[in-house]
Formats: sequence, structure tokens, C-alpha cells
Amino acid sequence: MQKNEALEGVRRYFAEGQFEDQLRRRVAVKSDSQTPEHGGELTRYLVEELVPQLAALGFTHWIMENPAGAGPILVAHRHESQNVPTVLTYGHGDVVPGYDQQWREGLSPWNLTIEGDRWYGRGTADNKGQHTINLVALEQVIKSRNGRLGFNVKAIFETAEERGSPGLRQFCQENKELLSADLFIASDGPRLNASRPTIFLGSRGTALFSLEVVAREHGLHSGNWGGVMTNPAVVLSNALACLIDGKGRLACRELTPPPIAEEVREAIEELEVTKDSLGRSLDEDWGEPGLTFGERLFGWNTLEILALSAGNAQKPVNAIPPRAKAFCNFRFVVGTPWQDLAAILRRHLDAHGYSNVEVVVDRVTPATRLDVNNKWVTLSRDAISQVTPKKVALVPNLAGTVPNDIFADVLGLPTVWIPHSYPGCSQHAPNEHLLRSVAEEGLQMMTSLFWELGNVSA
Ligand SMILES: [Zn+2]
Repeated sequence: MQKNEALEGVRRYFAEGQFEDQLRRRVAVKSDSQTPEHGGELTRYLVEELVPQLAALGFTHWIMENPAGAGPILVAHRHESQNVPTVLTYGHGDVVPGYDQQWREGLSPWNLTIEGDRWYGRGTADNKGQHTINLVALEQVIKSRNGRLGFNVKAIFETAEERGSPGLRQFCQENKELLSADLFIASDGPRLNASRPTIFLGSRGTALFSLEVVAREHGLHSGNWGGVMTNPAVVLSNALACLIDGKGRLACRELTPPPIAEEVREAIEELEVTKDSLGRSLDEDWGEPGLTFGERLFGWNTLEILALSAGNAQKPVNAIPPRAKAFCNFRFVVGTPWQDLAAILRRHLDAHGYSNVEVVVDRVTPATRLDVNNKWVTLSRDAISQVTPKKVALVPNLAGTVPNDIFADVLGLPTVWIPHSYPGCSQHAPNEHLLRSVAEEGLQMMTSLFWELGNVSA
């Protein structure tokens, strides 16, 4: 019962082509959740791919209805003892549509195609490849420990993630007991970059809202009425400018987060985000002054104007437009009073004389971030460091948003995400691929982590 045996086992599994065969089969299941005709494939993926693998590992399972009527949800339990920790893991069996015609010559979304380090196919990166890596690692640890893991596992696989996970929050609220655990570990999304093993602990939140000024029903001639009638486009432009200035700095300071905590600042610094490290040159004079690029991206809030409309930009006429509307996106970190977003915007606009701007907050996903010094984070980082000499990137929260609050807040779990993809993977686009090198490293990392988790008693 040596850890080396498990690491060797997983290496052999990969070298002998078993991982490839498994992923090839999984990619061939057209479990596209955005195309109703493929609905049957969602269930087939769970029943024919995941259930047999989980059953062989000693899991009991339930295929349950999604309370929002979307694709089914698979829950599985593997119980060893009351005296060991329980890990909840997550994955999604659905993918985005294939867009078959748009793939490069010689590639197809539903056939795994290998070219050098790249393994092409829909779902290789998002998320079939990633959860397959984790299940294989689990399998090899169980084997090397003679059927014992040293911890309990619960797994939840949804099939509507690519539709925005409808029903998942309600499902978790209604099944708290069934999903109760000590720790959450899952893999989705990209690493910081291909070469840095990455752990992320949450994500920024996101809120979509609109600002609208409606002055009247019809446009008015700008010569006959200009100067004596309100122009909604002018009002809206100025209202936006009182929220965010021309250099991307939040002018509404109530929308800024509390100062960045020291440990978060240190973790961000370790990510080594520089002007040119993200694949495109960053704008030096944009965003919150006094912060590093990394702090602006991972530790601060940003307000983006996504779309603007007034008049007809394709065919401007000499008229004062009757209305103007802006769609905005607010990304925010933990500690921001997002629950009060509508009230803050209202107050700020009123104070600046823009009471005629209507604010509608549409959708909000809260921000999450596990404490970077949490014991499970330390354990995960140490376990990963045992199988790779590379410095682990500990991302306090993703700059983008994942509905991690379902696990962190609804289920109340410490959340540790270990992604096995990279930013260039073409997820959601033609030519999606998994990097062989990242997959092999991910298998070693997860095997090491699951082994070490088995050494912790509850
Ligand atoms: Zn996706």
C-alpha cells in the first residue's frame, strides 16, 4: 500500500491508452444540453458512462429529477466510515453544441482526435476530460489501498451546466442532507496558464443591470427642440460617467470592495500577472490606480458597459432620441454589499441629479472565496507539490464567475477547485481540446491529493 503504487497505476492507465479510450467514448456521446433533440443523450451519459464507473468503485447512486425540469442529476455515495471526512465532488456531463461545420479540417466535435499535445473533441476540456481525470485518480487510489480510500465520497453530476445550471441551486437546497460533506473538491474551468498547476477557491460575483432614460414617445427635431428639451442619450452618458470614469475607475466608491486582505494580496502576487503574461498586452492606465494588474483582476471590482442604445447608429438622423438604454455588468469580490446594489445605484444617481434614470438589476451571482489559509487548501497544495516541481498557482477567486456559492453558501462547504484545462482550450468554441501534458499532470496531482486525504481522520 504505497502512494507510489497509486501514482504508477495512474501513469500506466494513461500510457496503456485506457484513459484515451474512456474519453473517446465519452466525447462521442452528444450530450449537448442546449439542443432539445439531444435530451436523451444527457441521461445516456449518466447511465452508460458515469454509473458503471461509480458502481465499480462501490458507489450507490440515484438519478434524480432536476427541479427546474432541466436535465437529470446524478448523485452517488461511497461510504467507508463515520470517523473519516466526506468529500463532495462535482462535474457536468453536458456540453455546448458541436458547431460541427466550424471545426478545422480533419476535426470533429464528436471524435477524439489527437495531434501532438492536443486532444480535440467537444467536452475534452469542459467538462468530461476533467471529471474523468478525477474519477480515474480516485479509482487508482482505491485499488492501491486494497479497496479502502480513507474518506467518504459524495458526487453530484448535473447535465444542464451549459444552460446556466437551472435547478441546481434549488436541488442543493432541497437535498442538503444527501449532499452534506466536510469539503468540496472539483475540477472545471482553466488553470492560470498551461504550465501552472492551479487551485482556485471561489470566483468573483456578477450582476447584470440596465440603466434607462425614457423622455417621450417619439424623437424630436434637434434644430427645433434642441436646447429646450431633455436629451436621454446625454443624460444617460453623464449618468454612466458618474458611476465609472474615463479610465475605468469606479467613481461610485460605494461599489468598491473593502481593502484587499494581506494574505489575498500575497496570493495574487504569487500569480505573477504582468503586462504580457496573459497572452495579450494589458492596458497600464486602465482600472483602479495604485493596484497591480493581478489585484485589479482578482482582488477588485469592475463595472463594464456591455451595450448602449439611443437613436439609430446605423442611420443617424437630426433628432433628439426619445430614449436611451445601457446594459452593464458589475463584477465584484467577496465583501462587496451586492445585496444593496440596486439601492446603491439609486442613491448615487439621485445624489448626482439623475433621478430620471431607471435602474433594473437583473441577475446576480454572488462572489465566493475560501480563506487562502484554510487547512484543506494547505493540504491540497502540499499534495500537489509532492508530484510536480512547479509552483502551484493559488487563485483566491477566479476573475470570471462560476456558481460556486451553491456549494460554498447553500451547502456551506470549503471549496477547492483544481482545473485541468488552460485558457487556450477553445472551450465553448470549435476546436475544443485538452492538453495531454496537463491531463497527465492532473492525474498525478489528483491521485496524490486523494491519497493524502485518506491519511486525514475526521
Ligand atoms: Zn462550459
